[in-house]
Amino acid sequence: MATRRRFLRDSTLALDAAVTMTDVRKVGGVRAILVALMALAAGCAPEPDAQENPTETAATVPQDDARPEDSEAWEPEPSIVTPGGLLGPPSDAILLFDGTDLSAWSDANGGDAGWSIRGGAMTVVSGSGGVQTRQGFGDVQLHIEWRTPGEVVSEGQGRGNSGIFFMERYELQVLDSYNNRTYSNGQAGSIYKQHIPLVNASGAPGTWQTYDVIFTAPRFGPEGRLDSPGYITVLHNGVLVQNHAELEGPTLFIGEPSYAAHADRLPILLQDHGNPVSYRNIWVRELG
Ligand code: MG
Repeated sequence: MATRRRFLRDSTLALDAAVTMTDVRKVGGVRAILVALMALAAGCAPEPDAQENPTETAATVPQDDARPEDSEAWEPEPSIVTPGGLLGPPSDAILLFDGTDLSAWSDANGGDAGWSIRGGAMTVVSGSGGVQTRQGFGDVQLHIEWRTPGEVVSEGQGRGNSGIFFMERYELQVLDSYNNRTYSNGQAGSIYKQHIPLVNASGAPGTWQTYDVIFTAPRFGPEGRLDSPGYITVLHNGVLVQNHAELEGPTLFIGEPSYAAHADRLPILLQDHGNPVSYRNIWVRELG
């Protein structure tokens, strides 16, 4: 009980501080509440580990006999809610894409990113591969806007599929989940094959949608020991869909996830899943 009381007290202090620091008259009530929620979630982050330069290892290899459908969860289906508005970058944000160039991004080999730019948006060029930030990141607050094609083709995982991979391996799913049933832990707002979104806040195909994310990187100790798992909080179109969800390891298409030690900072990657999904107004704030 003492621990719980202390957590509640600390959480209240963090919430109070966040609201106090935010000028409600300037930025509006919705923004103030969002900033307070994010400060609260950031307060739950573990202390950075003193260990440096853990050994880089490859992501987990899928198990031989597992099938993709073995790890699909279809129930419960999140209920549909109506989302709200958009947010601009805070003054301390690192702009990753402002609509004009891909200088902050590369392909998987460090070469020029192969996606197109038009109308202030960057769009997947099918077959060109994912794009990743040239800068590595650990704990971050990320804002990103995305749009699935207005012309609906295919269904399930084949409709407007992309994804945002934190540290190149933890995927927040991007998908057209507007009247498009698929497994719940693979729809928009899911942490792929790990966490079903709390609700379905999806906008219609062809409309711009937002993710606001607080990502806490996992911590590794000596010999690659996991000291603390990663955590992720996600607002989809301003609606909470992941609340400090614990990452079980890299998000896999097949098989059960398990951690493998990796560097403290790694690129954020946007997935080429063959669908012309667009992104714009991408900014990040480093935390801690
Ligand atoms: Mg995806």
